[in-house]
Amino acid sequence: MTRRRIVCVSCPVGCEINVDIDQGSIVHLEGNRCPRGEDYARQEAVEPKRVLATSVHVAGGTYPLVSVRTSTPVPLERIPDMMEHIKRLTVSAPVRLGQVLDRELLGTQADLVATRDVPQGSPHPACTPPAPAGSRPHVAAD
Ligand code: SF4
Repeated sequence: MTRRRIVCVSCPVGCEINVDIDQGSIVHLEGNRCPRGEDYARQEAVEPKRVLATSVHVAGGTYPLVSVRTSTPVPLERIPDMMEHIKRLTVSAPVRLGQVLDRELLGTQADLVATRDVPQGSPHPACTPPAPAGSRPHVAAD
């Protein structure tokens, strides 16, 4: 039998919940102050999930990236594959807050949703990366 200590993050109280697992099944659970904690600990012990928040490349926008999040929590073990997939995505400006940029991310029930607007236009000067130290400015050929 193994014991896992899980901190419930469903509210600011942060109860420490002990979960005893025997052969893949939860046989005892204690430390939660309310039923939400039991639901959270059972989910966390068996199939932990998280809302994934990251950013996606934008072409032709005033910012080179748009912040995104999944519409629902996704299995924690799928997040590395999802990050690889998201790194390769590029969307075209304009992007609107709430716009779905990728449906049913890698076969899950979660959509990838923009969490801000990115209008069409030239990148903001603050978003243009500085030239590497010691590099020469680029001069266009005639
Ligand atoms: S078990 Fe209930 S009281 Fe405790 S942190 Fe979770 S939601 Fe809050």
